[in-house]
Amino acid sequence: MHTPEQARCVFHPNRAAVAKCEKCSNMVCLECKKTYRVRRTSKGDSVYNFCPPCHQTFGRRRKWGSIIAVVFFVVVAILMINWFITQSSNMPTIPEFP
Ligand SMILES: [Zn+2]
Ligand SMILES: [Zn+2]
Repeated sequence: MHTPEQARCVFHPNRAAVAKCEKCSNMVCLECKKTYRVRRTSKGDSVYNFCPPCHQTFGRRRKWGSIIAVVFFVVVAILMINWFITQSSNMPTIPEFP
């Protein structure tokens, strides 16, 4: 009986790999597989597979990335509000009584 060469988990050489790490391309078994779900509004959720060490580093980076994103969003929001206030104050006032 010839069985085709099955990819093995890098952490468990006796186990069959079920996924490939997105970062280091290591093959991981079901137990080692770590998924990271990224929410996308237009495309739906995309799920990334990672090996445990890469999942840790990716999660940490995502955390920092989200903090930066929140700060950026707040700054943009403040600028938008500022712009809106300036625009509305410059607008000619429509008389309420004809
Ligand atoms: Zn990895
Ligand atoms: Zn494993």
